Amino acid sequence: MKKVILAAALLASTAGMAQRFEENRSKFEQLGTLLPTPNTYRTASGAPGHDYWQQRADYDMQIELNDEKQQITGTETITYFNNSPDELGYLWLQLEQNIFDKNSTANLTKTSAMEEKVSMYQLGFMTLEQFDGGYKIKYVKDKAGNALKYTVNGTMMRIDLPHALKSKGSFSFSIAWSYNIHDHNKLAGAPGNGRMGYEYFAKDNNYLYEIAQFFPRMAVYDDVYGWQHKQFLGNGEFTLPFGNYKASITVPADHILGATGVLQNPNEVLTATQISRLQKAKTAKTPVVIVTQEEAEANEKDKSTTKKTWKFAAQNVRDFAFATSRKFIWDAMQITQDGKPVMCMSYYPKEGNPLWGKYSTQAVAHTIRTYSKRTVSYPYPVAISVHGPVGGMEYPMICFNGGRPEADGTYSEQTKYGLISVIIHEVGHNFFPMIINSDERQWTWMDEGLNTFCQYLSEQEWQREYPSRRGEAYKIVPYMSMEQSKLEPIMTNSEQVSQLGNNAYAKPSTALNILRETILGRDLFDYAFKQYATRWAFKSPQPADFFRTMEDASGVDLDWFWRGWFYGTEPVDIALEDVKAFNADTQNPEKENPISKAQANEQKTISQIRNEKDIQKTLVDENPELKDFYNSYDRYAVTPQSKSRYEQYQASLSDEEKKLLASGENFYSLKLKNNGGLVMPVILKLDFEDGTNEIVRIPAEIWRMNNKEVSKVIHTSKKVVQFTLDPFQETADIDTDNNAFPSKAAPTRFQLFKQQNRRPANPMQEAQQTQGGQPSNR
Ligand SMILES: [Zn+2]
Repeated sequence: MKKVILAAALLASTAGMAQRFEENRSKFEQLGTLLPTPNTYRTASGAPGHDYWQQRADYDMQIELNDEKQQITGTETITYFNNSPDELGYLWLQLEQNIFDKNSTANLTKTSAMEEKVSMYQLGFMTLEQFDGGYKIKYVKDKAGNALKYTVNGTMMRIDLPHALKSKGSFSFSIAWSYNIHDHNKLAGAPGNGRMGYEYFAKDNNYLYEIAQFFPRMAVYDDVYGWQHKQFLGNGEFTLPFGNYKASITVPADHILGATGVLQNPNEVLTATQISRLQKAKTAKTPVVIVTQEEAEANEKDKSTTKKTWKFAAQNVRDFAFATSRKFIWDAMQITQDGKPVMCMSYYPKEGNPLWGKYSTQAVAHTIRTYSKRTVSYPYPVAISVHGPVGGMEYPMICFNGGRPEADGTYSEQTKYGLISVIIHEVGHNFFPMIINSDERQWTWMDEGLNTFCQYLSEQEWQREYPSRRGEAYKIVPYMSMEQSKLEPIMTNSEQVSQLGNNAYAKPSTALNILRETILGRDLFDYAFKQYATRWAFKSPQPADFFRTMEDASGVDLDWFWRGWFYGTEPVDIALEDVKAFNADTQNPEKENPISKAQANEQKTISQIRNEKDIQKTLVDENPELKDFYNSYDRYAVTPQSKSRYEQYQASLSDEEKKLLASGENFYSLKLKNNGGLVMPVILKLDFEDGTNEIVRIPAEIWRMNNKEVSKVIHTSKKVVQFTLDPFQETADIDTDNNAFPSKAAPTRFQLFKQQNRRPANPMQEAQQTQGGQPSNR
């Protein structure tokens, strides 16, 4: 404990200040030229500008599935609306199936190394050699049936227009194509595989198809890049314009099919029983089974040779996908979202039960409700979750999800929550990027990061303490603790990110959670986030539009936050280096002198202690004539002079100063160091002597003059016994050992490592075995 004397403030030394300012200002400098210059298409506030435009593409498709050859053929008529102010001489289309061509850029540039142990996954690129993948384009014709000149460039195709397409004009043309559908599990290691394909079930000799990126789709032409011209390499997903879709899909008559959009001809493809069950689902409180497991098992044996055509229509979507199989069980439950009906549905083979029947449609409905609250009201009439070979992939109104129990019907906790989480995530993608249509090929984080953040919030509303994989600040610590050279900023193109999961999902979702809980608070954040979603629903935002809207709508300058979290790779590591305690010195000799005297006598040195025993008599003791005034002088005695000096000092003080002196306040001078580099708020817990505590929150701007080291004085009426930095683990501080004063060694539990189980623990199965229960039949 030290004493502090009220005195005039010292002028800070100006030496080295200019240099320090240079070093420090970068953290709080405005993003400036890192962001594009605002214009009439995209404003400085982050909203679409008054000249904002976007293209539109309508599709009319006839598709046929060949279940014997696992082949798909189609013709499509695309009507392209040029809403841009520009004249277009050619059109670009996406041919993403061409990633399965063995000569695709993705395959040729996939780096690989041979080791003594190789997995089939690593050899995926070899299986691709034997697969005849990619589009076979039969023709490209204009409305009158005249062939149009086209050039295939990898996963893209250019169509040369006979006459330039004028601004506000439209152009219709048709394409006929076919391709071989790949076996999803066989081509697991091939680039771009993870999103579609078929699964073959040997036991009942049936196929289950999840079909997407299956038709030539219009590339995006916009005010930012012109024509989107990044080839599909596997990571950077899709960049697509909105439009209206009509699709007729012909499949074996015993198939059950789910797709983007609303079924137009239920009477032609559904039985009377199925139609009446669907009717029931409109008012049901729990999912109604439209095709039961028994019926699906009967279908499995059917192997119909006749065909049926399912017709769908979808308005204002950026894509179209479907799933079909004779193995499908189908259930449905309609909910009302903001006054509009949304039919939530699931399609799954019996292999997915009992998990799928219990949770899938409930998870779909939960997602629609929770995301609508935070972003925009779900605008589509249908939301579907399909179980097949794809682990998790999103399309408008429909998504493909993994998660399958054991053959005996038991499952691990990980499988259960993995399933619910992936459904929330993929259904959540309806909002980001299917409605808030960000450019996935450039910025994975704009849909995955925002969606993973919303997923976390929805999971926490599913059940208390839901085991969310991502979202909490402390969960990003292992990634952010990595060597700097292994990290890329979030603002890195989708194809250049080495750890896509951590960089594009986990870090941005954590950053947004921190922004909500620690920087802005829930009210300001939720308002701004909803504002972003509303502004950009059915439009195409860029990163700057997000950054600017969040600042504009919250009224908080967040440039330092975007700079640190999205443009930087530094971690958070704030250390509480030192705390010095002070009390106000009243200068009243009657009060202070006894305290000083007690402190002076508090601890004798070892020599003093031993001398008292060893030296019986000192020289002065033996010769008292050697003593004078100073041998009996008490430096702590209160004298008339010292009293009068105190009275003069008292007279010089204002009333406020007198009150402070009399208060007995405790002052603590804290020395904080920023070891990590990323500037963050300082959150302190003060534990008082009497067992109570207090939380002090200091905004990140405390670092604006010196981002390496700051000191801060805190005063309290109670005595502090313990200071703790970041007590709620909300800043992703990578080293918490330096977060306490007096310092505390955080105990780490260790486990003697013996063997690694290959499968996740399945206590459900163990319980069944101990009870001697029979495996459930599915
Ligand atoms: Zn995702």
